[in-house]
Parts: sequence; structure tokens; C-alpha cells
Amino acid sequence: MTPSEFFDFAKKHGAEMVDLKFCDLLGTWQHCSYPISTWEEDTFENGVGFDGSSIRGWQAIDCSDMLAVPDAESTKLDPFFASPTISVIADIVDPITKEKYPKDPRNVAQKGIAYLNQTGIADTCYIGPEPEFFVFDDIRFQTNQSGSMYQIDSIEAAWNSGRTEEPNLGHKPSYKGGYFPVAPIDTLNDLRAEMVKEMQKVGIVVEAHHHEVATAGQCEIDMKFEDLLKMADQFMWFKYIIKNVAKRNGRTVTFMPKPIFEDNGSGMHTHISFWKGGDPLFAGDGYAGLSEMGLHAIGGLLKHGRACLAFAAPTANSYHRLVPGFEAPVTLAMSQRNRSAAVRIPMYSPSPKAKRAEFRCPDPSANGYLTFTALMMAMIDGIQNKIDPGEPLDRDIYDMTPDELAATNVTPATLGEAMTALETGHEFLTKGDVFTQDLIDTWIAWKRDNEIDALRLRPHPYEFDMYYNC
Ligand code: GLN
Ligand code: MG
Ligand code: MG
Ligand code: MG
Repeated sequence: MTPSEFFDFAKKHGAEMVDLKFCDLLGTWQHCSYPISTWEEDTFENGVGFDGSSIRGWQAIDCSDMLAVPDAESTKLDPFFASPTISVIADIVDPITKEKYPKDPRNVAQKGIAYLNQTGIADTCYIGPEPEFFVFDDIRFQTNQSGSMYQIDSIEAAWNSGRTEEPNLGHKPSYKGGYFPVAPIDTLNDLRAEMVKEMQKVGIVVEAHHHEVATAGQCEIDMKFEDLLKMADQFMWFKYIIKNVAKRNGRTVTFMPKPIFEDNGSGMHTHISFWKGGDPLFAGDGYAGLSEMGLHAIGGLLKHGRACLAFAAPTANSYHRLVPGFEAPVTLAMSQRNRSAAVRIPMYSPSPKAKRAEFRCPDPSANGYLTFTALMMAMIDGIQNKIDPGEPLDRDIYDMTPDELAATNVTPATLGEAMTALETGHEFLTKGDVFTQDLIDTWIAWKRDNEIDALRLRPHPYEFDMYYNC
């Protein structure tokens, strides 16, 4: 859509407001609304000003003025305003230099795609994520000596919270039995269908929706693969729609990876393939029908996997998920069908177009722009350096002894380990200045100061259970 088509679109929908959105460093959409009458065609060049120092991880207070420049291509009708409102995604620009802001996640994705093209390896990186999430009826806080906490900390509480019902009519999913009995056991099909219909209205192609394994309202909605930037934009819409449709129905959704102790967590398996001139590049006659390039790409992903997780599994909570026993990966190995390995090569279709790597470590607390780009950069590095992915692990990794597992390339045990991996091995990300050193340093410092230490220094409520009577 051009800027002039934007104004036609607004008129057609009777919209008097435009809502401008951009993604902060940590992956949350921020927004500001304007009467459309205040915008002209040149707003799409000049942008609108805002205070960059108030956005997490961005500018210092002494250089806070920034510009948000709307991208007319991203124009949609926003479903969550009372009166018709147009939504546009912005690129962030420095008002003095007029350069795009290197800590704008969307800019990282744009530079990543440019770099992929510049290498000559491929012209397109397709991304297909499978984000999972929990739907709850009610989240209660409880306050005690160590601050407020969510009350959901046991299977029993989760069971009830997913299902407030008087009298109790049964038809509940059994423990880990949520995948995927029909109604009345699945009570969320209509809610998911409403989410899907809102997604379709903003142009997202949805392939399937279903209940997931965890007992308490865990769901998955699958989008058709798209090129990296489009998918990263779409992932922002995806979360926005899911949370707002839930709210509209008196429900609440979380994308935190492990809300429930001892039940499955929420992953965001990410399917990745490289294409050039309309041809898929990962199909061939190697292991699991992969080409040499596909195998090297996976080699890069596995080699840099621990550093990638600093973006792909970016919360302290992410590491409660990456443990044995809950269908989440615990070691950085590949396998054609083994769902306990980090990289699975799906074998459903013989078509070369379907040949891809499924990286199972990411979770939906991730910033899509940074994560998809980091994974792509790891694969580019694997191809450039012909990195061998190692022997496939076609056995159940959860059956390994602790010693056998420790001898593999294990996933980080904590967010702190992932940050150290990023700190000590990020050259694959800074190629082509895709991730600047400043962005990486800011990311690590933010996570250490605001998340890792914030948790480390705070007594956990469960410590009272364990130690109060010591
Ligand atoms: N929830 C699992 C995870 O954490 C995945 C389950 C599945 O999709 N089969 O990755
Ligand atoms: Mg799935
Ligand atoms: Mg799933
Ligand atoms: Mg999957």
C-alpha cells in the first residue's frame, strides 16, 4: 500500500484515528494514536516524534528524541478500538542522522534479510512458528513477605483455573491429556476460532488451531510460513489478537513459557528454510532428505544454539521449560523424528518445498524480530563455514543417563548461562552489522540487571515452604 492508498483505505473504513505501533527491544508492542487529519503523505517520510528514553533498553535521557516513521505497507484495520481505527507499524529513525535505529528490532530483521541477499546464499528466509499459550479464567495474586505471586503453582490450581464450573460436570483433560480430545473436554475451540477469524481479517493465513498437551487450557494456533520480516510483524499481531480476544471474552492469556509446575510448557517451534529464485535450498539426498546446505545450516544452528537461546528463550522462566519430560528439547542435536532433540527435520511430506529445519528451543516470550534473525544468522554462518551438524540423535534423549546427557551439547540450564554464551560467542550475529555490539551489550546488561538479578536477590515464596521451619 502506498501512502495515498493508506488515506483511501482509511476513508473506505470511516476511520478517524490511526494507531502507530512499534516493537520495543524486549518484544512488546508500544503504540500512540493520532487523528488521521494530522497526518499527510509526507508523514510516511518524516515520521512523528516520541521520547526514546522511555522505551525499555533504548535511548539515554540526553538524546531521547526519536522518530517513528510509519510503513504504509503494514496498514491494517485494528479490531480492538471502539471506533474504526487504522493500524500501522513504524520504523524507528534518528532525527539528526536520519538513519534507522540499530536497536529497533524491526531494523535488525531488515538488515538480516539484506545480509542474507548480500551473501548470495539465498534471497528468502521462510519462517513458520508454532506458538503455544495458556488460557486462564482468572489469575489471583497473593501477597506475602516476598512480594506478590501468582497463585497458580500446582496442577490442581491449574485444573481449576482453566475451568471454573459449578457443578463440576467432569469431561476434564487428564494430566498431559490435552492433545487433543474433542469437546466437551476441549472447551476452548470457539474461543480459538474467534481468534483465528480476527487473524484472517488482518491477513494472517492460519493453518490449524488445537488444544495442546497441558491440562489447563493450553492452546496452539499455527500460521502458514511467511518471509522473515512479514512473519515477525505478524507475530506481533498474533499475540495482540490472542490476548485481546481472550480479554473480550473475560479470559486471560499468557505466553510465558512455563506457567504451571510439572506440566508441559509453551514453546514456539520455529520452522526455517532458505530459498533462492523461487527454489527451496534445503532439500537433497543427505540425512533426512536434506541438502548439503541444509545440513550445514543446521550445523550452524546447533553450534550457535546456546547463544541463540539468549534471544529465542529470553526469560528466566524459559529455563523451567527446557527440562526433560515435557516434550521440550534439552540437547542441541538433530533428528528426523525425535521430538526431544532441538532440531527436528519433519518427514510428513516428500516435496522438496516442505524440506525445512524445525528448531524446538524457542518459546513465545521471544522477540520475533531478534529471534528469527539470530537463527537465520546462525544458519548463514553454518553454510559459510560448512559446519557439520554431527551425528543425528535418533533415540529418546529423556532416557539417557545424566552422564550421557552431559556429554552432549546441552541447552543452557539458566538464562544466565544463555547470556554468557551470547557474550562469549556472537561474531555470527555482528556480521554485516546486523546485530550491533551496542544492541548485544544492552541486551545482556538488561537481562542480567533486570531479570537475572531481580530473581536471584529475591526470596522465592516456595523457599518459605522449604525453609521457614529450619
Ligand atoms: N509444549 C511443547 C514444548 O514446550 C511442545 C509440544 C508439541 O507441540 N508437541 O515445546
Ligand atoms: Mg504444532
Ligand atoms: Mg505444539
Ligand atoms: Mg512442532
